[in-house]
Amino acid sequence: MIALDPDSESPCSVGRSDPLPREWIEDTIVAVSTATGAGAIGIVRMSGPAAVGIAEMVFRPGHGVALRRDETHRLLYGHIFDPRDDHDVDEVLLAVMRAPHSYTREDIVEVQCHGGVAAQRAVLRLLMQLGARLAEPGEFTKRAFLNGRIDLAQAESVASIVAARSSGALRASVRQLEGGLSERLQSVRRSLLGVLAQIEATVDFSDEDVDPVDWKGLGTILSGVRGDLERLLRTAFVGRALEQGARTAIVGKPNVGKSSLLNALLMRERAIVSDIPGTTRDTVEELMEIGGIPIHLVDTAGMRTGGDDIERLGVERSVRAMEQADLVLAVIDISKRWDDSDRRLILGLDPARSIVVCNKVDLAKDGAGRVKALAEFLDGGQPGSEGRLWQMSAVSALTGEGLEDLRASIQRVISGGEGIHLEEPVLASERQRGLVGEAFDRAGFALEAASRGSDEELICEDIREAIQALGRITGEDLTQDLLDEIFSRFCLGK
Ligand code: GDP
Repeated sequence: MIALDPDSESPCSVGRSDPLPREWIEDTIVAVSTATGAGAIGIVRMSGPAAVGIAEMVFRPGHGVALRRDETHRLLYGHIFDPRDDHDVDEVLLAVMRAPHSYTREDIVEVQCHGGVAAQRAVLRLLMQLGARLAEPGEFTKRAFLNGRIDLAQAESVASIVAARSSGALRASVRQLEGGLSERLQSVRRSLLGVLAQIEATVDFSDEDVDPVDWKGLGTILSGVRGDLERLLRTAFVGRALEQGARTAIVGKPNVGKSSLLNALLMRERAIVSDIPGTTRDTVEELMEIGGIPIHLVDTAGMRTGGDDIERLGVERSVRAMEQADLVLAVIDISKRWDDSDRRLILGLDPARSIVVCNKVDLAKDGAGRVKALAEFLDGGQPGSEGRLWQMSAVSALTGEGLEDLRASIQRVISGGEGIHLEEPVLASERQRGLVGEAFDRAGFALEAASRGSDEELICEDIREAIQALGRITGEDLTQDLLDEIFSRFCLGK
């Protein structure tokens, strides 16, 4: 920060200590927009019709700068002072962003004060005493939505950007903020509106000489709509993984190399690696990123029954971790003979959500041959069945051999076998997934009814419901409760 300059004063910041008219300032909100705690700077943000007026009362520009009448988008140096006793509260940088060119489309004033709780609170308190109201969580973004700057899907993406824990999650959220999902939904919605208009025209003017409904043509459009919605729904798993991280459990008998595999995937030492079976007593959890998707890797205790109590507790935990996992890495020591307990462990898993990791290939004489034999063993001894059911991955946690392929397999399984294109729209929240699912079902009912030649009114009803569901994603047809629900998930000051 620049040195303090107590002598500086500006004509527009002195002498206005009278509070602004109540009705004028009622709707101006304020919050600390940076994370709480000590930091280099803390930003206090104010938005609403009185934001600039309040700022004028408390900001004393320094170094000859002045707050212009049409002040906007400049960073000004000065002090925040309390006009009631003229004492300086903090040395700051202040920016005014005039409506409509601001985050909320209202007048915004941002005060960059010194980091640290005391300075931010003092500035916040002062602005509140002069009439600004403490913002609710997400209220700035809510105003951006209510003032028509962004739609609801975009507003939700703001929360996702703040919460993003991986580069992929960030990329997908930024794409959504740019309107990728909204565009896709609008185009589907337009198709449905077109179908609805055609049917309604025929029904409304049935007495007159109008062409009959072209059911075949409409059926093709409805099938296309369903295809689009289905593709979107398939992104839901990726969306969930991006939002929450894909839970990946590493399971297997003691000493097969689970902890070593975790370390190798994380590329650092975390879990305890030892030669003594059963040393990983508890579950170890780590966050990593594969192909932009956040992954919670959970190393579970060895799947061995018996042992002491602590180990048994660990076994219970690993069973639970497996049940909760999006993906299971079942680790086998491929240099040793596998047995029925290996087979039982693997056959208890869902092949679509598991990878059989054949570890220690560096110790095996004919690694590839043994992996093939294991695949056949798992498929019940049918020769030539390699890869038919189970995804096999030959690796060495020690030398790193095969790890890149394993990462690629993990990425494939997590994206449901599809390639992940983070530039494409992804359904990012449960709300969006539910509504697209509803639209998909309704479009399906309409299609089926149309092919049976059912009542036009019923078909229209289903199409209307589908249109409404899609509209709710971007924010048409909203209730206050729903809005509050969505924005309450935001952090304060956003
Ligand atoms: P866990 O009980 O399944 O977690 O097994 P650990 O990761 O503790 O490994 C058991 C032993 O196997 C350790 O001595 C590791 O160094 C060794 N080990 C793990 N992976 C490999 C591998 O790929 N190749 C070889 N040669 N040794 C390994």
